Amino acid sequence: RKGVVIVTGASSGLGLATAKALAETGRWHVVMACRDFLKAETAARAAGMARGSYTVVHLDLASLDSIRQFVDSFRRMGMPLDVLVCNAAIYRPTARQPTFTADGYEMSVGVNHLGHFLLARLLLEDLNKSDYPSRRLIILGSITGNTNTLAGNVPPKAGLGDLRGLAAGLSGQGASVGSAMIDGGQFDGAKAYKDSKVCNMLTMQEFHRRYHEETGITFASLYPGCIATTGLFREHIPLFRLLFPPFQKFVTKGFVSEEESGKRLAQVVSDPSLTKSGVYWSWNKDSASFENQLSKEASDPEKARKVWELSEKLVGLA
Ligand code: NDP
Repeated sequence: RKGVVIVTGASSGLGLATAKALAETGRWHVVMACRDFLKAETAARAAGMARGSYTVVHLDLASLDSIRQFVDSFRRMGMPLDVLVCNAAIYRPTARQPTFTADGYEMSVGVNHLGHFLLARLLLEDLNKSDYPSRRLIILGSITGNTNTLAGNVPPKAGLGDLRGLAAGLSGQGASVGSAMIDGGQFDGAKAYKDSKVCNMLTMQEFHRRYHEETGITFASLYPGCIATTGLFREHIPLFRLLFPPFQKFVTKGFVSEEESGKRLAQVVSDPSLTKSGVYWSWNKDSASFENQLSKEASDPEKARKVWELSEKLVGLA
């Protein structure tokens, strides 16, 4: 039978390129989990994805209710679940004020981390039931959350501190109630994104420690390269959006096309050689995959455990 993969945020950028790459092999049925049904359907057609190779299902990661409804809808479809890809993200580098999810959590961490945390926890049961030879749970990471790299040292740097803001509920309702930032500091949209990516990488490793041995599921994260052309930068200032792609192409040489990045993520989904669990994949200049090192914070097991436990409370699992 075909493998069944759920890709969140498959309506643009990396998610769409991955959905297309997997659907084209004829070996995967792609469930595109998207907040804008029409946009996703139009994007899939424009990308030339064959009818019947995918299903769009509504999912808004900024609402815990929507996530639970998505899981119900998916289960009612009666398909097995073989691979889950937590790909969707928002990045608000120029935002001066935080915005909040339906449940009152700062948007970047709320969508990128907390939403995916609940989704992955609920769907673990489904992955566990599948009889597919290699079941995988993949959470997108990023170089920008890793302070052991050059890109990760561009201020504002990621840093979760002692997690006091997360513990207080990321509500940003003034000093007495709590901050919108995980470390309890002043709101900074770029830092909130980087912090959310650190949470993504910590969560993948915590999943691995808690569930790999028992379930045999492969847990993995990756940095697909700098895909400077995606919608992720849509909220950035126009000059940045103009100069960022050529800067990445010619100066840092970290530029990767959406198509190439989609092939990379598709490899992490289906390549028989990428079954190792607990790993953060990257690609070298010749587009060969290798196991990359995470920063001290992004690989700290104690922090991973605390983020896991605090996140459980915020999404209503504890
Ligand atoms: P895009 O902005 O192109 O895609 C992000 C996707 O997430 C879109 O489909 C968007 O939906 C969706 N999304 C946003 N908010 C929600 C929500 N509340 N509920 C459901 N879906 C939502 O970005 P990229 O393709 O670049 O990013 C994909 C992943 O790759 C992210 O995890 C990012 O951190 C990671 N990454 C990207 C890099 C890059 O250079 N671009 C580098 C390293 C990692 P909609 O279409 O409706 O807006």
